Amino acid sequence: MLLSPIVWLLITYFAGGEYELDTYHTEGRFILRLYLDQQIEDEKFWKQLSDECGTDSCRHPGCNHLSLKRSSLCKAHHFEMVIGHPYGGAKT
Ligand SMILES: [Zn+2]
Repeated sequence: MLLSPIVWLLITYFAGGEYELDTYHTEGRFILRLYLDQQIEDEKFWKQLSDECGTDSCRHPGCNHLSLKRSSLCKAHHFEMVIGHPYGGAKT
């Protein structure tokens, strides 16, 4: 599981020991970089998806959004199916 950068930085802060702090600090920055890169990639993919203008409802149980033009799922559920996690950015 990928820890959130804030949790990771708190672990770094309380880890103690100069060597460990350096190690955790480097790993924390690396994980923060991965996290930010993932957000950029997520946003790129989100913006490429068309609007929900299909004629059918999303097939995800309990969802009442319209499907995308070339999908049986709405934008959020199509994103989650392809990328593997929910979209966390602004849904504009
Ligand atoms: Zn849906």
